[in-house]
Amino acid sequence: MSEIRYDRLHDTHVIIAPERLHRPDCNFAEPEKKVVDEQCPFYEGHESMTPPEIFAIRKPSSFKNEAGWQTRVVPNLYKAVQIEAPLQHHYGLFEHLEGFGAHEVIIDTPEHHTSMTQWSEENVIHWLKTLRARVADLRGDHRIAYISLFKNEGTEAGSTQQHSHTQLIGLPIIPKVEREAYQRSYNHYKHHANAILETVLAHEEEDGQRIVAKQGDFTAFCPYASAYPFEVIISSTKALGQVDTLSDESIESLAPLLLITLKKLKKQLGCFDFNLSVSTPPLQEGTVEHGLLACVDEAFRFEIRIMPRIYKHGGFEQTTGVIINPVTPELAAALLREHDYV
Ligand SMILES: [Zn+2]
Repeated sequence: MSEIRYDRLHDTHVIIAPERLHRPDCNFAEPEKKVVDEQCPFYEGHESMTPPEIFAIRKPSSFKNEAGWQTRVVPNLYKAVQIEAPLQHHYGLFEHLEGFGAHEVIIDTPEHHTSMTQWSEENVIHWLKTLRARVADLRGDHRIAYISLFKNEGTEAGSTQQHSHTQLIGLPIIPKVEREAYQRSYNHYKHHANAILETVLAHEEEDGQRIVAKQGDFTAFCPYASAYPFEVIISSTKALGQVDTLSDESIESLAPLLLITLKKLKKQLGCFDFNLSVSTPPLQEGTVEHGLLACVDEAFRFEIRIMPRIYKHGGFEQTTGVIINPVTPELAAALLREHDYV
């Protein structure tokens, strides 16, 4: 029997339909992919193949735009928006802004890994510290209202570059979905004096059936209304700040949990394509309801969302925004709990 579940975190519905699991396009066990790319612009030693770096975590005594880095951030060569564009708003029936914004690529590791599941814990810590530094820096640019931070791994997830990388897109507008999410969280906070995710996670921890693993203050769980099979959210009931303000201590407990979760997913799914998003706080007063920025850490919980892309979406998902997920999150969490990699 399927269920139409309400997703309180995203204000959408999903259809959990286990009977669709046996459809022939289900592809749980892809073979390992090849890892060779002599021409890779993100490879260590190929620094001249990218635009000059914006930021890097470097080994001592290494130089800018040369080898010796652990993470490296460069402008995206194929920019959706650019920071050099004027911030101009043209009103009227065919309203538009000039294509202003930040579009950066975070080269996650010097090695040409294909998968985040192969990273070391040190890789994850450097990656999180790089995201923290970039969002903190861009917060100072008052033209940027919103930042999207995401990873696409594998062709099913929309990746066109094998070398592990993360993208940052900063915009002068807040996309509707995100604007509504901020507003909904803020409304919840005003009524209940806590964050929606805090309430949901507290109930998940009490119930236990959708919990995957815990580390320090962080918990990985399969959300009740998972839109994707084996979807996992990592968050905390405690207010630990946002991506640009997480403490080193928080990063050090988040990193092993993220890595363990990815390895558990790989154990169940084989090599799997996925999207990963890192939540970002609203950046500028004036772009969101007045007062919201003053209580950002109480009203929003930092979260990482992992969305395995096992199934292709079709016309129904495209037109309705309602996704059909054939794997119950209760089953996914039970399978993911089975293996320990601590
Ligand atoms: Zn590479």
